[in-house]
Amino acid sequence: MTSVRLPSIDKLLRAPVCAPLQQRYGRNVLLDTLRDLLDELREPARHGQLAELELSEAVLAGRAGERLANQHRSRVRRVFNLTGTVLHTNLGRALLPDEAIEAVTLAARYPLNLEFDLATGKRGDRDDLIEGLIRELTGAEAVTVVNNNAAAVLLALNSLGARKEGIISRGELIEIGGAFRIPDIMARAGVKLHEVGTTNRTHAKDYEAAINPRSGLLMRVHTSNYSVQGFTASVGTAELAQIARAHELPLLEDLGSGSLVDLSRWGLPREPTVQEALRDGADIVTFSGDKLLGGPQSGLIVGNRELIQKIKKNPLKRALRVDKLTLTALEAVLSLYRNPDRLAERLTSLRLLSRPQPDIRIQAERLGPALAGALGEPWQVAVEDALGMIGSGAQPVARLPSAALCIRPQQPRRLRGRSLRLLEEALRELPIPILGRVADDALWLDLRQLDDEPAFLAQLPHLQQALAS
Ligand SMILES: *Cc1c(COP(=O)(O)O)cnc(C)c1O
Repeated sequence: MTSVRLPSIDKLLRAPVCAPLQQRYGRNVLLDTLRDLLDELREPARHGQLAELELSEAVLAGRAGERLANQHRSRVRRVFNLTGTVLHTNLGRALLPDEAIEAVTLAARYPLNLEFDLATGKRGDRDDLIEGLIRELTGAEAVTVVNNNAAAVLLALNSLGARKEGIISRGELIEIGGAFRIPDIMARAGVKLHEVGTTNRTHAKDYEAAINPRSGLLMRVHTSNYSVQGFTASVGTAELAQIARAHELPLLEDLGSGSLVDLSRWGLPREPTVQEALRDGADIVTFSGDKLLGGPQSGLIVGNRELIQKIKKNPLKRALRVDKLTLTALEAVLSLYRNPDRLAERLTSLRLLSRPQPDIRIQAERLGPALAGALGEPWQVAVEDALGMIGSGAQPVARLPSAALCIRPQQPRRLRGRSLRLLEEALRELPIPILGRVADDALWLDLRQLDDEPAFLAQLPHLQQALAS
């Protein structure tokens, strides 16, 4: 082939085929993109490696359009979470129910009474928007809300125990993923760690012996993400509350997941509830909004009114407070708890967590053939029983009986690893990425959380294409 001339950048920019791109992305961005494209083509054009057609205005505009669309695609992408882990921290934890989504939209679009008392016309307090609900649902006297439960623990510790000792069992010095470690949080909060007991056994007398004039608080942490079994002993909230009261020290309990209902009602493992912790005498209870509660990311601090007042006066509260979107979503989610009979139907996370296995299996049987069709010969698709997890560290040993589409490469064992990696990659590159789990030489798509079947089916032609290329 002979060398061909590149079109001039000015002419290209003025070409009618480029007008819609300029309209959409602006002149400067389009100019940069076209310049990059032409720069890349200069050498091949000189060496005669390009046909005239490849440098036509239409083809160049098309390539620029593709590149710009890619650059402008949102980095935040919807995905299918078919990993089997329901409250997946890396995938955004709880999905909000429609009621909360509507409330968030309203709060985003219109001014609202975030810190304005409509009854008196005076300045209000944003925590008041949910205080009534929290009192009704948990029996707590007061509440304050911050960015997440890690912030809740930090703020509560700093407000009630700074420059004093915090007494805690060695069996509760836990790490929650992502660098949240109780000893580190205590140190950052300015509370001096006073550990008592041993890893597996701590007794009431250990706490009693530790109390001294420098003591500021007693702390109890729900070891939500691990379990100690065998020769163990720990002091329950009720007993610890008596000790705290006798010495006029506050008892702070970090519940982590913080359920407001007994989950065994829906066949799920029991988590201690916020009501129980308060009833047993904890003065302050902290918990997450986006774990078992099923709401937006947030941390709730509930309990004794005077202590909550003290916490709210801490300047750190201002730094850790939540925004209007979080608060409105939280209010909507809490409202659903007023009617526990309909909770599993309306609260998205609970509906997903409590989906019966036979349901999921029927769905898998229904979708299996379409997936097998898209994958073609080299893959075998089978419907298999699977075990999922709640996630977010809640009940780490408990498993949720589920069903999965299990995809196995029909190949000698030594080739399967590579095939599975390629399949995983192809699934991740779909318009709506599908995330599964690789185990036992197979890729598992746990369907517990597959709500939107039409969208799932719409990915399959793209998958077919990706695997063919
Ligand atoms: C999850 C958890 C936290 C941290 O909560 P986030 O909302 O993720 O910040 C703290 N303590 C316990 C016991 C937890 O389980």
